[in-house]
Amino acid sequence: MTDTVVKSDQEWRDQLTPEQYAVLRRGATERAGTGQYVHVKAAGQYLCAGCGAELFDSSTKFDSGSGWPSFSAPANAELIEEHRDFKMIVPRTEVRCGRCGGHLGHVFGDGPQPSGQRYCINSAALRFAKAASVGADAAAEDHTESKA
Ligand code: FE
Repeated sequence: MTDTVVKSDQEWRDQLTPEQYAVLRRGATERAGTGQYVHVKAAGQYLCAGCGAELFDSSTKFDSGSGWPSFSAPANAELIEEHRDFKMIVPRTEVRCGRCGGHLGHVFGDGPQPSGQRYCINSAALRFAKAASVGADAAAEDHTESKA
């Protein structure tokens, strides 16, 4: 069982940017290709922008060509909730954060094998935590010193 974050609408408005609030708390969808994480390939973890839950890992991120960050699997299935969404003519499966209930995006069955899943997630619902690059700084320093 996961922790549950419950806040009032006003608390969410105060904490989140207008864009984050629209997506996480009102189920909005950012325009394709406009999100800050669409083309990010760096190693790290994608946290919920609302509550910090670790939702996706960069190792499952792939280029779907959709214009939204896409993942083949959640980092922790317990932290993801899936709901049927009947807003469109063809029902979709909505994906929400299991800890704060924030709307993240949708999951489709046309992802890469072996999972076959495509978690299509709004950048505004995520906060990227880049993995620490141990050793990279030291190597760069050595290079600079040898040139000097
Ligand atoms: Fe959350």
